[in-house]
Amino acid sequence: MIPQIETDEHKALRAAVAALGAKYGRDYITRTIAEGRHPTELWNEAGKLGYLGVNLPEEHGGGGGGITELSIVLEELGAAGCPLLMLVVSPAICGTVIARFGTEEQKRAWLPGLSDGSRRMAFGITEPDAGSNSHRITTTARRDPDTGDWLLTGRKVFISGVDTADAVLIVGRTEDDRTGRLKPCLFIVPTDAENFHRRPIDMELSASEKQFELTLDDVRLPADALVGDEDAGLLQLFAGLNPERIMTAAFGIGMGRYALSKAIEYARDRTVWKAPIGAHQAIAHPLAQAHIDLELARLMMQKAAHLYDTGDDIGAGEAANMAKYAAAEACVKAVDQSVHTLGGNGLTREFGLASLITASRVARIAPVSREMILNYVSHQTLGLPKSY
Ligand SMILES: Cc1cc2nc3c(=O)[nH]c(=O)nc-3n(C[C@H](O)[C@H](O)[C@H](O)COP(=O)(O)OP(=O)(O)OC[C@H]3O[C@@H](n4cnc5c(N)ncnc54)[C@H](O)[C@@H]3O)c2cc1C
Repeated sequence: MIPQIETDEHKALRAAVAALGAKYGRDYITRTIAEGRHPTELWNEAGKLGYLGVNLPEEHGGGGGGITELSIVLEELGAAGCPLLMLVVSPAICGTVIARFGTEEQKRAWLPGLSDGSRRMAFGITEPDAGSNSHRITTTARRDPDTGDWLLTGRKVFISGVDTADAVLIVGRTEDDRTGRLKPCLFIVPTDAENFHRRPIDMELSASEKQFELTLDDVRLPADALVGDEDAGLLQLFAGLNPERIMTAAFGIGMGRYALSKAIEYARDRTVWKAPIGAHQAIAHPLAQAHIDLELARLMMQKAAHLYDTGDDIGAGEAANMAKYAAAEACVKAVDQSVHTLGGNGLTREFGLASLITASRVARIAPVSREMILNYVSHQTLGLPKSY
């Protein structure tokens, strides 16, 4: 018997989230962007329906599912034209890390709010002088010998959604570990902490979520701001980074599906010769290929989510990278072909597809670039030597 890829519960979740997405749709997001505000109504309603914390433990207000379920939520909202980027960060990275490695007190303090969406957490690892090479991050935590507090100093860039977040989960390193391979430590930093500054980055992106540069200048944090063990290192970090990659795949697949659906609708109707343009194979075949690529990327995403949810962190690492790669490439291609299918209308504001060209590139760059995934597969999977 062929194993069922999605259970009836998954299908029901997909249908229910798709219905919520259809209620809001792309026009809602376009309006919030034009008005310079956040998609609060959609976020709150999704929270009330239990979708935002579907992956978090039931005992702390979540749905008791995993990244499989959360990726369904993001994909379906994206396919309706209204993705919530903060799902990648708040419940997927921060919620997962706290649920897996946080103290009981941290779980009680954060998970109910992250589950119903009443609280949000951003995530900061990228630094101006480190970029793709996280081993070079220099955000450093030192202990105040008198109080036991942490003092955190450093800079972060491109951190999404800090303006809507109660705190940022910051990746730093401890003072006696300033050099060599990264031994990361994760700190919950409230966004209203003293000496924590944020500056919006002027992005050419049409999205409700903004990116920020952060400066931390001896930000004083209580001893229990540290999540998990000072020495647990990369395992803890990747407990958050693998869900982030799987969720970015969901983001890309959702966006690709949305663009493709608009192109198909258009190609069925638009007639400039005898038959609608969708009858020309030069238009139809690339759309069919884009659909196949998105379906294949989803299969890889489902595999990665399954491995992660069943506790295979190593297997999930490889699959999450491959899923993110496949989904980003499928998304970029689907958006490009969809814009092209609409001819001049592909570039009008009315049809709203052109802005997705930039948005789709996000999935190729973040959270880990196409090239760094190819590097990972070259070295880890194929055993080829490294050039850097
Ligand atoms: C919209 C958006 C939202 C983001 N949100 C967040 C967030 O919330 N939190 C967060 O921490 N970060 C966030 N990021 C940052 C993102 O993760 C980084 O941009 C990404 O990791 C790439 O780092 P970089 O921009 O410094 O590029 P660089 O590392 O400078 O790379 C530049 C180019 O060089 C290539 N390159 C680098 N090294 C190699 C190599 N060894 N071999 C081959 N090619 C190489 C890269 O693939 C890339 O094409 C966000 C970025 C964007 C665009």
